[in-house]
Formats: sequence, structure tokens, C-alpha cells
Amino acid sequence: MGARNIDGKAIAAAVREEVRVRAEAHAAQYGRAPGLEVVLVGDDPASQVYVRNKERAAAKAGIRGAVHRLPADTSQQALIALVRRLNEDETVDGILVQLPLPPHLDAAAVVDTLDPGKDVDGLHPHNAGLLLADRPGLRPCTPSGCMRLIAEAGLELKGKRAVVIGRSNLVGKPLALMLLAQHATVTMAHSRTVDLAGLSREADVLVAAVGRAGLVRGDWVKPGAVVIDVGINRDDGGQLCGDVVYEDAAERASAITPVPGGVGPMTIAMLLDNTVRAADALAVR
Ligand code: NAD
Repeated sequence: MGARNIDGKAIAAAVREEVRVRAEAHAAQYGRAPGLEVVLVGDDPASQVYVRNKERAAAKAGIRGAVHRLPADTSQQALIALVRRLNEDETVDGILVQLPLPPHLDAAAVVDTLDPGKDVDGLHPHNAGLLLADRPGLRPCTPSGCMRLIAEAGLELKGKRAVVIGRSNLVGKPLALMLLAQHATVTMAHSRTVDLAGLSREADVLVAAVGRAGLVRGDWVKPGAVVIDVGINRDDGGQLCGDVVYEDAAERASAITPVPGGVGPMTIAMLLDNTVRAADALAVR
């Protein structure tokens, strides 16, 4: 195996430590620690695990907060009323509504209600627009985490070819814009892309954000490329795996993220980073 394993767990731990120091400084300057409120509707088991992990990581980083656990049959009106209340609460710096929401709720309308300054998931159209315009704003956590991993891999993006497979608003699209902002030449690929294998082979940075185990094969990887695997899937044996066939891709890549232990831990670390960023910005708003 030729590739260096990009250790997302270790890098996330370093980011969380940086955040802890900044949270402490914020508390010293403004008299209270940054605050993150998480809203969880219903009892989706994966969401419950994510929220518990976020709660624990926030507490360890010195971020105050609470989780609002609402029943699955919560009305749109009640959810929006809670978001409005949190918007107005001056002790709240970050609001995260855990997605997906139960199908009777309109997630876009809920996201639109968020105060963009407290939108620590970076999903409000205002923040999406700031990203598009290459201006400072709160950025989505998973793609921010990917960028940090690419930086840690030591890759200078200027002039490099990047291929992002997946075009969701949560991961693929914002990540493509972030790569573009770092002067990469970016191609966004998706389910209708023709010759995905050939396109992938041109990439100096190949990102898979699809949700299909085994989609990206070893021979899709250009020798020396950096491979970032965002996918979270279960293989036939029930084991957690990404979108990339890790062992085969690692034969050709220069650096590659594992699943688990790659992008996943970075998402939470970047959420905490966004919370302190939001708190610092709100304190002078
Ligand atoms: P999504 O379902 O919203 O988007 C998937 C994208 O993949 C779509 O744009 C679609 O066009 C594309 N696609 C589907 N089939 C394809 C194919 N055969 N070939 C090429 N492209 C194809 O998913 P998402 O929310 O962007 O998440 C993608 C994956 O990343 C999922 O596995 C998800 O669990 C994972 N994820 C991980 C983290 C993390 O923290 N590690 C965070 C968010 C999402």
C-alpha cells in the first residue's frame, strides 16, 4: 500500500483543542462561553447518535448548550416557533436543526427561518450565497472538514484538477466552491455523469460524496492523487465503509482518508469551530 492514511480522528482532535482554547478566550472576553442549541425532531436512530456525539464534543470543548428533543409529530408551526425563540435568545450563538426531518416537515422553510448568523450548519441561503460570492460566512461543516484534511495532506490546490462526485447542497456543491476558491480546476460529477471512471482518473484530488459502497474503484484513481471519501455506508458484512474501495485506491493514491476515522470526525470538529466563529461575530454585531 503506497498511500499515506489521512488520520481524520487525530486532525479532528487537534481542531477540537484549538476550538477549546478559542472558546475559553471568548468566555474570558465576553463573560460567557459560546452556546450551541441542537434541535432533534423524532427518533431516527442515526440522528440520535450524531446528536449525542455533538453534545459530548461541545461540552468537552467548553461550549455551553442544550438539545431540544421534540416528538416525531411536532408541527411545522411549533418547530418554527422554537427556531424563532432561539434566534432571539442572546445567549444562543449557534442553532443546528438535525436533518433529515420527519417527512411532514418542510426542512427548507425551517432552515430559511434560522438567523444566518447562528446557522452553524452553513445551510441558510444567505450563507450559501456568501460562499458562492467568496465572502466570509458560516460554511457547511462536512466540506469544511474535507478542506482541512486536504490541507493536512500537504496538497497545494492552485492549478490542480479536482473532481467531486456528488452534488448535494450539504456536501458536493459547497465543497466544489471551496476547492474553486483555492484555485483548483473543479469538475462536479453526479449520477448522470458520463464516463465517471475516466473523469475520476484525471483528478489530482478525488472526492467521493455519494453514499454507494464500492463505487470508486482503485483503477479510477490517478497515481499520486489525494482521495477524500465522504461516503458512509454498510458493506455486505454490515461493516461501516465509504464510497471508495480503500485498499485498491491506496495502492495508487498519495494520501487517502479511511472510513471510519476520516471525514466523519471532522464534521463535528468543524461544527464546534463554526459555533465559536458565530459567537465571536455575534458579540460584535
Ligand atoms: P445525497 O444523497 O444528497 O447526494 C448524493 C449525490 O451522489 C447526488 O448528488 C447524486 O447525484 C450522486 N450520485 C448518486 N448516485 C451516483 C452514482 N452512481 N454515480 C455518481 N454520482 C451519484 O447525499 P449527501 O448528503 O451528499 O451524502 C453523501 C454521502 O456522504 C452519504 O453516504 C452520506 O451518508 C455521507 N455523509 C457523510 C458525512 C460525514 O460527516 N462523514 C456528512 C454528510 C454526508
